[in-house]
Amino acid sequence: MELRVNRKTKFLQLNTVRTVCCFCGEGTPSEEIDHLPSRACFDNRQFPDCFEFPTCKVCNESTKGEERVIALLSRVDSNPEAPAKPDEIGRYMAGVANNNQNVFGEMAQGYGRVKDGHGSVGLGNATDRAFISVLRRWAKAFHYRETGAIVPTNGRICVTYFSNANAMQIPSGAIDGRVHELTRNRNNIGDQFSYIIRIDPNCSALGYYTVAFRRSFLAIMMIDFHGAVILEDQSN
Ligand SMILES: [Zn+2]
Repeated sequence: MELRVNRKTKFLQLNTVRTVCCFCGEGTPSEEIDHLPSRACFDNRQFPDCFEFPTCKVCNESTKGEERVIALLSRVDSNPEAPAKPDEIGRYMAGVANNNQNVFGEMAQGYGRVKDGHGSVGLGNATDRAFISVLRRWAKAFHYRETGAIVPTNGRICVTYFSNANAMQIPSGAIDGRVHELTRNRNNIGDQFSYIIRIDPNCSALGYYTVAFRRSFLAIMMIDFHGAVILEDQSN
């Protein structure tokens, strides 16, 4: 007899540990595994190990369209030693053009040449909404990953992000904390995704997370279960 560990087995193990969705905060049974950040954000969909989360179907579907936008924007500026793949940029751009017309319109409207042959794309309200809804889910996922705690429905979340064009505004404290070495099948994927956490080991009600994708954007997420630090649930 043998026991094969495959994705299904992994899901069963995950479900044994936690049988509820880690996003609802309402004790909804988990039905699927979600990958956050979405697999589309990574070259060849090779997402980092241990970023899989139990979810109900409704939560799993809730930001699919927005994740496509983030997957595209995560590729606008890469580390020259690990350039984003042109075919993936083209594929996600076509996906956004076909399915997220408002975002694509904002990008096209703000398109311009900067210098050294580089261009820029516009970010507007529709892009902003896509970022915020995705980052709020990431915040819950990362907090669950690091503490095992599920953000309650009345818990407070604060998220913000900085594109490479406004990197000078990134608060210096944003990159304080423990930097994880991220791998996929033992390959380091830190040149695509940086993940920094700051949590109080004695208090799972507070969490502070910073992520960066390539050189495209940096995002900061805060979790506060009881309103001790975040006075109002705010998105930006
Ligand atoms: Zn759910």
